[in-house]
Amino acid sequence: MIVIMEPGVAPEKTDAIIDRIKALGLGAHPIFGEAQTIVGVVGTPIPPTLEDEFSVQPGVLQVVRVSKKYKLTGWDFHPEKTQFTVRGVVIGGPEIAIMAGPCSVESEEQTVSTAKAVKAAGAHILRGGAYKPRTSPYEFRGLGRRGLEILAIAREETGMPIVTEVMTPADIDDVGEFTDIFQIGARNAQNYLLLEEVGKAGKPVMLKRGLSMMLEEWLLAAEYVMAQGNPHVILCERGIRTYEPLTRNTLDVSSVPVINGMSHLPVFIDPSHAAGKRALVPALALAGVAAGADGLMIEVHPSPDHALSDGAQSLTFDQFSALTPRIARVAAAVDRTLTVGNGARRAAD
Ligand code: PEP
Ligand code: MN
Repeated sequence: MIVIMEPGVAPEKTDAIIDRIKALGLGAHPIFGEAQTIVGVVGTPIPPTLEDEFSVQPGVLQVVRVSKKYKLTGWDFHPEKTQFTVRGVVIGGPEIAIMAGPCSVESEEQTVSTAKAVKAAGAHILRGGAYKPRTSPYEFRGLGRRGLEILAIAREETGMPIVTEVMTPADIDDVGEFTDIFQIGARNAQNYLLLEEVGKAGKPVMLKRGLSMMLEEWLLAAEYVMAQGNPHVILCERGIRTYEPLTRNTLDVSSVPVINGMSHLPVFIDPSHAAGKRALVPALALAGVAAGADGLMIEVHPSPDHALSDGAQSLTFDQFSALTPRIARVAAAVDRTLTVGNGARRAAD
C-alpha cells in the first residue's frame, strides 16, 4: 500500500502515519520528494481496514492499494487456467462448452425434447430452471423439486450433465441431490451467505454477474465460494443494466478479456439474458466466443412463443442448430474448437 501525502504537508502528519504503520508491526518506507512525500507500507497482513483509515487522516491525499483484494480467483497464486470436468465435459479447455436448454423446466416432454435437440446440435450441458427468480411474484416461479426430477430424467436419456439455479441455502441439499453444476443467478450474485453455503456443497458453481456488479466485486463474490475450498467456479457474464432500453441488458463483451487478465477462472457468456430478444442472440454469442469466452449458456425452447418464462429470448431448435456451426467457425478463428454433431450440420444445410 502507498500513502500519498498532500503537497507541503506538515512533517508531524507524515510522522503520525509512520507511527501508526509501525504500531501495526508493518514496515514504513517514506520517500521525501521536493514537493510531496509518499509512504510505502510493507508487510503482511495489512489490515483490510487500513486503506479506509488512512484515507481520512489529516494530510493524506490518496491511498493506493498495491496487492489485490481478490486472492484465490486471481492469477498471482494460481498461474494455471482453471480447467475441470463435469461428467466428461471439459470446462475451461480448448473446446467451447455449450450449456443450452429452456429458461424454466415446464414439463418432461418439453425438457427431454429440448435436451435431445440441443445435444444433437452440439451442446454439452443441459440448462433449465426449477427454482426461478422472477422479477414479479405473479410470474411462473418454476416447478421446484419436480423440475429437478425432470432434469434428472433428461440427463438419464441424453447423458448430458445439468446446470440449474439454487436461490436459497435451504434448497442446496435438494438441488445438490440432482444437479451437476449449481447456478447462482444475477440477483443473488452478492448473497454472500448463499455463496458460502454453495461453496461447501462439493459441486461446481456457475456464478452469474450481478445486474450492476463491477468486475472486482464479481471476483470477490467468487472468492466467497472458493474460500470454502471449492476451486470449481465458472463466471458467467449475462449483461448488465445500463441506460439502454432496446436490449434487456447490455452485454459487456469487454468483461471477458478483462476477467481473463485478472482471473484463471473460466468465463462464459449468456447472450440470451443480455439480449432479451432471440434475433440478437446469435450475434452476441459469436461476439462472446470471439472475445475469448470459454463457454456459452443459451436458452432454447421447443415453442418459444408459448414458453412460461423468457420466450422472447429463447431460440427455436432450428435457430440453435443453425448457430452452433457458426460458433464453431468463430471458435476456430480464435484457436478454440467446437465439435458440432450431424444434427447441427443437417439443420444448417
Ligand atoms: C436464468 O438463467 O434463467 C436466469 C434467471 O438468469 P439471470 O440470473 O442471469 O437473470
Ligand atoms: Mn431465463
